[in-house]
Amino acid sequence: DLLVVGSANADLVIAVERRPGAGETVLGGDLAVHPGGKGANQAVAAARLGARTVLLARVGDDAHGRLLLESQRAAGVDTVGVLVGGAPTGVALITVDPSGDNSIVVSPGANGKLTPGDVRAAASLFQASKVVSTQLEIPLETVVEVVRNLSSESRFVLNPSPPRPLPSELLAACDPLIVNEHEAKVVLGESCVSDRPEDWARLLLAKGPRSVVVTLGAEGALVASADGVERVPSVKVDAVDTTGAGDAFTAALAFRLGAGASLAEAAGYAARVGAAAVTKEGAQVSFPTAEEVEAL
Ligand code: ADP
Repeated sequence: DLLVVGSANADLVIAVERRPGAGETVLGGDLAVHPGGKGANQAVAAARLGARTVLLARVGDDAHGRLLLESQRAAGVDTVGVLVGGAPTGVALITVDPSGDNSIVVSPGANGKLTPGDVRAAASLFQASKVVSTQLEIPLETVVEVVRNLSSESRFVLNPSPPRPLPSELLAACDPLIVNEHEAKVVLGESCVSDRPEDWARLLLAKGPRSVVVTLGAEGALVASADGVERVPSVKVDAVDTTGAGDAFTAALAFRLGAGASLAEAAGYAARVGAAAVTKEGAQVSFPTAEEVEAL
């Protein structure tokens, strides 16, 4: 029912006292390896909520690729669309200092080899999907090809992360375009003439999407469509780690839209899922089940 097209990465994390300068070596803590990447995160988040979810992605024929396949299957994601080979699995090399600040080097690897041809070859997955959810950690032309292969019944959701200016063909297909504050500013570019999220939502809507959602962290989100702009509150929680909150939000929203909810209803549910995700460390391990969302 839900098709996620996007990235799958191994996150390699080491705690350090301080970052090395050029030519320098520092010793860090033990290596932690976590499944990540925005596509893989969204698929796991949706499946954990109970959505029938398929992931279309590419990993390398290596240990990281097998880790990603395993974590998807453990969450209940259908991995029929996960292609193997072409380059090493995508990796994020992450150092975390004592203040909690990250420095990250991303090697897209196999994510960069997910091609428009791979999208065309997955036509049967598109036929079966009510909602197709994407991000921008795969080539832009591949995301554009997704739009061209949508079935007439399916709805397209895009979280443009990492953000960049978007072609109008892509913008016009979004229902909704989901952005945080930083992504809103980059997508708006020169036309970002205001500090008010309500204005960003309206300005983004004027660029062509059928609907827009602006996520505002602890403040929840704004939903904007031809019906106007509406504020959706989040739940008050003790935030421990916000990694993956946006991915959990997007996945939950796509899931509820597929189940027939209105955009405002789906965003209300997604805000609770995002809130639940920030109460635990990590990305995929922090995503809640439907029962945990109820309990919040
Ligand atoms: P991103 O992770 O992409 O920057 P946000 O920080 O806006 O996205 O978080 C996405 C959603 O997760 C928010 O709309 C909100 O519903 C929820 N959320 C994030 N941080 C908090 C928080 N501190 N308290 C409650 N909910 C939160």
